[in-house]
Amino acid sequence: MNLHEYQGKELLASYGVAIQRGIVAKTADEAVEAAKELTTTTGTSWHVIKAQIHAGGRGKGGGVKLAKSIDEVASVAGTILGMQLITPQTPPEGKKVNQVLVAEDVYYPGASEPSEFYISVLLNRATGKNMIMYSTEGGMDIEAVAEATPHLIFTEEVDPALGLLSFQARKVAFNLGLSGMAFKEMTRFVTALYNAFVGSDASLFEINPVLKTSDDKIIAVDAKVTLDDNSLFRHPDFEDLRDLSEENPVEVEARAVGLNYVDLDGNVGCMVNGAGLAMATMDLIKQAGGEPANFLDVGGTADAARVETAFRLILKDPNVKAILINIFGGIVRCDRVAQGIVDAYKNMGDAIQVPIIVRLQGTNADIAKELIDSSGLNVLSAVAFQEAADKVQEAIG
Ligand code: GDP
Ligand code: MN
Repeated sequence: MNLHEYQGKELLASYGVAIQRGIVAKTADEAVEAAKELTTTTGTSWHVIKAQIHAGGRGKGGGVKLAKSIDEVASVAGTILGMQLITPQTPPEGKKVNQVLVAEDVYYPGASEPSEFYISVLLNRATGKNMIMYSTEGGMDIEAVAEATPHLIFTEEVDPALGLLSFQARKVAFNLGLSGMAFKEMTRFVTALYNAFVGSDASLFEINPVLKTSDDKIIAVDAKVTLDDNSLFRHPDFEDLRDLSEENPVEVEARAVGLNYVDLDGNVGCMVNGAGLAMATMDLIKQAGGEPANFLDVGGTADAARVETAFRLILKDPNVKAILINIFGGIVRCDRVAQGIVDAYKNMGDAIQVPIIVRLQGTNADIAKELIDSSGLNVLSAVAFQEAADKVQEAIG
């Protein structure tokens, strides 16, 4: 689950990570109120207005703007709110901005120039350890830094049994070229950041930029936070952070009825049970020259009601030209699944306009095939994996 920047910053702050202060707003009037309130605590009358969408690169797309007066806050917030923001990370049509973060301007000029760093925390799956990736080249596209100057990106792996050790936090501050007060601030920042990562069961933190202000404070100016969906049961309060308007509506609907659905770009709908079989099925479709339109795991029960729900979800995607049902009947018997398919199909009447290819293997597979073949419906049965994929290709032409 992805968070908005303002939510990510609040999460970080709750773990003692220093952040650029801000208040979220849904209208220009709210933005003005937010700016006035911020001014009373920060003392600065300059603010940045930042579009809150689940995508980075907002600055480049015109979604982050400085306002030097309250009037400018109103006009800038008015322009950004409601805009269709296009960044390198959004779909081509962009994303609609429903909220802005009004934040204190932290790039105030001072004795020394502010510097921007990059710090992320993520799991290195190869070593099974969390790692801190960091660089002096903050504020820029980190992929470009990795390409052009990979030696400017450092990594620090953390042993899960030991946690982040204080020498590691100091190493980060040292490699970032800091000294004195900023050095101490950075060790504190990194330590708090790592605690926040572990404490919230996050799968990614990306803070770009981390800013050293002209008075040597270290603060998070941006926050990309991804929480691990599999750990959400441990954090019931995080459920409120979900922004359904940022998610694919069909995926939201599927989750509500307990189905795992992931939307993809192709034209072959896939109904399977089990994630492993889903992967294998998608590979097979691709090998046969097709492209999967989705990944839909109906799980252990595949009765008529569930199959019907699955059909309806898959058919919401207008690109679907055929549906491949590939189910292994281990706990659930194949004949029951076949009956479910036939019943659901009949129940849906004209709603199904695309050919359906069914491969059922496992308990009572032969009875299931018989049921499908004698149904008189536009449903083709297949026994072998390859045969199923070939029939799909034939069906979509
Ligand atoms: P992103 O483009 O989506 O990654 O959004 P960021 O939150 O990283 O903001 C983009 C850029 O806006 C940053 O790299 C900064 O250069 C700039 N920015 C952010 N906060 C401030 C601020 O308080 N004052 C000024 N002048 N610029 C800011
Ligand atoms: Mn950023």
